[in-house]
Amino acid sequence: MRLEGEEEFPIPELVTEDVRCTGPLRYALDLGISEGALWATGSLAQPVELRCVRCLERFPFTIEAKAFSLHLDLTGPEVIDLTPYLREDILLNLPPHPHCDREGGRVCPAETRPEASAPTPGADGKRPPDWSALDKLKLKR
Ligand SMILES: [Zn+2]
Repeated sequence: MRLEGEEEFPIPELVTEDVRCTGPLRYALDLGISEGALWATGSLAQPVELRCVRCLERFPFTIEAKAFSLHLDLTGPEVIDLTPYLREDILLNLPPHPHCDREGGRVCPAETRPEASAPTPGADGKRPPDWSALDKLKLKR
């Protein structure tokens, strides 16, 4: 049996300050029953919006679980809800520290900001931290 489609189900664990679901979960699953067990294999894709840990900008991303597989023993006539299993796999494939250049396929604005890569001394009226540490050492002597 082939199951394909889209499902709009909430993943409360997924939605945080940094993650937002932007569309329904797409799935393509092959299901079957053999020897009293249900198996399913297939792929999942959940479009989301993530926040880059470097530039803090939001960018679109699709969480993909390309090798979803499931094997459940059937104990009797029952209705099986696959939702928790699908959710779990999506959560497992969520990047923990998203970068918009790596996951979003764009140039991270934080990468090109001069102050981020090479701090200019005196530009913002502050000394670089290394120097103030040295000054403290001198005072102690
Ligand atoms: Zn970024």
